Amino acid sequence: MLQNSQLKSLLSVYPRGQVVAWVREAISELRQQILDGQSLSPAQFPELLLERITNLQHAEQSRRLQRVINATGILLHTNLGRAPLANAAVQRVLQTASSTNLELDLTTGRRSQRGAYAVELLRRLTGAEDTVVVNNCAAATILVLQAVAHGRVVIISRSQLVEIGGGFRLPDVFKTAGVELREVGTTNRTYVRDYQQAISEDTAAIIRVHHSNFRLTGFVTEPSIEELVQMRRPPEIPVIDDLGSGYMGGDSETVGCPLGKTGEPIVQNSIAAGANLCLFSGDKLFGGPQCGIIVGQSKWIERLRSSPLMRALRVDKMSLAALEATAEIHLAGRARNELPVYRMLYQDAADVRAKCQELLSLLQLPSTVAAQIEPCDSQIGGGSVPGYNLASFAVTLQASSSEQLAAAMRTAEPVPILCRQAANKVYLDLRTVSPEDIQGLADSLNRILVSSGQQSLGAPTEAKQGSSSHQGHVPNSLPSGSEPA
Ligand SMILES: *Cc1c(COP(=O)(O)O)cnc(C)c1O
Repeated sequence: MLQNSQLKSLLSVYPRGQVVAWVREAISELRQQILDGQSLSPAQFPELLLERITNLQHAEQSRRLQRVINATGILLHTNLGRAPLANAAVQRVLQTASSTNLELDLTTGRRSQRGAYAVELLRRLTGAEDTVVVNNCAAATILVLQAVAHGRVVIISRSQLVEIGGGFRLPDVFKTAGVELREVGTTNRTYVRDYQQAISEDTAAIIRVHHSNFRLTGFVTEPSIEELVQMRRPPEIPVIDDLGSGYMGGDSETVGCPLGKTGEPIVQNSIAAGANLCLFSGDKLFGGPQCGIIVGQSKWIERLRSSPLMRALRVDKMSLAALEATAEIHLAGRARNELPVYRMLYQDAADVRAKCQELLSLLQLPSTVAAQIEPCDSQIGGGSVPGYNLASFAVTLQASSSEQLAAAMRTAEPVPILCRQAANKVYLDLRTVSPEDIQGLADSLNRILVSSGQQSLGAPTEAKQGSSSHQGHVPNSLPSGSEPA
């Protein structure tokens, strides 16, 4: 018989129907094994059933949203929730999770506009007249097109009709917003005169979309945002700039700044150039929560605010709280010290290597597993700054099956560990792991390695133990199934 006490403890946590379903599934799996001709003695049955039930319960638990350690070296990993929040932002989320002054002015006791303080901070930060915040940048695109150009025409360069990711394609977005698309130029070359010639009575706006997730090089031309803004056109036709990543700049003169040279557009520059509306994501290089931020001239922002879509796309109190804290960090000039994305971006390869050495020194390797420190490349990810890599270092683990080792890491307790795999090795790129997590990571890995030492993860014998090599670069690919944006 199954141990009643163990089933009882499950029943105290899970609904009865759930436990019954697990028991049935476990019995049916066991039955299948017996039918398949495995020789199992009935004395083993209770233990085997209980093991299966426990596995099913763990599988259920692992589906909960939970913290994971990102050792992939991809800074903004869409599958891992993009930008990790700053501590100050996390604290603000916790505080506002209960009742909060979301739509109340505490000094007057009157109703106030939701997110009014976030709007004020973003105004100061970007130099724009006004701001609205929606669910994400995709929502921002739809809202802007719908509110500014419904039933009319928007002009866009052929080189910018992109798929952002997850099947989100701009031509479809235009259609959904009830906007007619007018493509101008060619795939590689578009001039100001192409836009000018396309302007007609039906033209509602001109949109520029940043090539977030691909590079166009060679014989290519596109007008800059300055040129588009200064182009002769009827004054009622706005220029909309979809910037994507929300890079705040401010660090381009700094020695060692990785992004200054990449040409990643800076939000403040677009506003200063006179773009009427600029859109960007909150959780890419801005380093905050998922949201879509629209900054620009009051006249246009007011149009967005009074759109019926606004109510459907607005953000919740916890996102606004995290956004406020993140914007405050940018405004105080503390992004480099306090925003996890910036810390990862600015970390010297030598500092990443020091973390690798610390981790390696904490590992207790069974004779069947070989570990090394190897150079590798980190990526920005999140569909931002494609083709741009940051020199980094990884602790690599070689066992007979990197597949099994990676799977054990994904289900590690208390915190799952995500890594990259290449050349039948597991790569732990520590650029994306904070120093406070190294000890916990080592403890987790040691538990996995001990049990794997007793099981089937034996290493090839030629690999040297614990040595440090500096040859060879790893192709840095996104784990399968992840999208670039
Ligand atoms: C990423 C991106 C989007 C979509 O942003 P989400 O916040 O993921 O919805 C839209 N436009 C551009 C140019 C982007 O880079």
